[in-house]
Amino acid sequence: MHDAQHIPFPQGPYVTGAVCQVCGRSIAPGEISLSSLTCPCSGDNGILDIRYDYEAARPLFTPASLAAGPRTMWRYRALLPLPDAADVPPLATGFTPLYESPRLAKLLGVARVLVKDDTRQPTASLKDRASALATSQAKVMGLTTLACASTGNAAAALAGMAASMELTCVIFVPASAPQAKVAQLLAFGARVFTVDGSYDDAFELCMAACRVRPWYNRNTATNPFMTEGKKTVAFEIAEQSEWSIPDRVFVGVGDGCIIGGLHKGFADLTSLGMTARLPRLMGVQAAGSDFLYQAWRNNENVLTKPAIQARTVADSISAGLPRDRIKALRAVRETGGAYLRVEDDSILQAIPLLARSTGVFAEPAGAAALAGALTAAQVGALSPDETICLLITGSGLKDVASAIQACTGENLAPVPIPPGSRGLERVLDTLPSE
Ligand SMILES: *Cc1c(COP(=O)(O)O)cnc(C)c1O
Ligand SMILES: [Zn+2]
Repeated sequence: MHDAQHIPFPQGPYVTGAVCQVCGRSIAPGEISLSSLTCPCSGDNGILDIRYDYEAARPLFTPASLAAGPRTMWRYRALLPLPDAADVPPLATGFTPLYESPRLAKLLGVARVLVKDDTRQPTASLKDRASALATSQAKVMGLTTLACASTGNAAAALAGMAASMELTCVIFVPASAPQAKVAQLLAFGARVFTVDGSYDDAFELCMAACRVRPWYNRNTATNPFMTEGKKTVAFEIAEQSEWSIPDRVFVGVGDGCIIGGLHKGFADLTSLGMTARLPRLMGVQAAGSDFLYQAWRNNENVLTKPAIQARTVADSISAGLPRDRIKALRAVRETGGAYLRVEDDSILQAIPLLARSTGVFAEPAGAAALAGALTAAQVGALSPDETICLLITGSGLKDVASAIQACTGENLAPVPIPPGSRGLERVLDTLPSE
């Protein structure tokens, strides 16, 4: 084992330590290092939750002090595990738009629909929030290489952030990763290994490599700081709603780190006394990758439940053994939310529906939030006075093939025409006067 593996992770000014999500043991801040990222009680499953001194942080986390901060996720720095003096990537991460969609509200039969557009991140997915924090931490630790396993977006985010900070990264993706995501990795200069297997296989390989190399391990869940980066999306939803909380937030769920981050962020705000309640968190899983739905529905123990065989068009939420399953289940249980299961067809149909209703173009895992809300509306789970938020986690440009597949058979195929007057005739024939 390399000496670098004993360097403690950097802490923020108000971090008090961490708590194991399995055994409840408290861990001192200086004890968390690359060689001890999880609690020894459960091997890689002893996922930690970072804790803060909210009393001390409160003066720096008021609506007025936040409003004076940068228009990025770093406005919430007081509640992030990063020293005040640490450099952050120059790429503008976070503070993405929150839109209101009266058309979707009408369609879903609720009072208001808010669309949180995280397609507008530097590398076009929510994963930038976690990877930005990872690269900042790696810099503080003096590490020059970061590694992660990913279905594509976490890797693209890490590669982009690393490039912006002159760091290198090593990436393990399943060979099936969509081309656009691989293109991002190559353009950003990452060392890419395409694993002839599933995301779960890529994850195990990356974990094994990180045990013998002095690399910052950015693997979801195992690295408890990724939850902290992702929780900033909850802060933004609250701040952009003038500190009123939506009744529900729908989000596509694979490993469960984003939904755990949402829970953490909204819980931080109640701990600070800034908001009075938590939104119900609605985890949307693909029918072919529904480990958490099954576990929630049947009250199963997620530490003993065996991995399932995951298969879905929504590659970003394909996870046979969700790595952040403990936090993911708590997020739904402790907020009175639910897990939902949607077929791939519904996910694909939600891409053009979201795009045409709001102008936001999502990849399948992002559109899954809308597919889940439609399912909830169909079974009568939503009430007419509700405000719901759809968290759109990744851009449609990440997976163009799925978008095209979703739009075929709709009589919207491009019409080939010749140039000049014959072409104009065809146009006028095709679109007769209105
Ligand atoms: C990673 C990802 C998700 C799911 O996040 P988990 O933390 O794995 O549950 C959803 N949508 C997109 C676009 C993602 O990249
Ligand atoms: Zn433990």
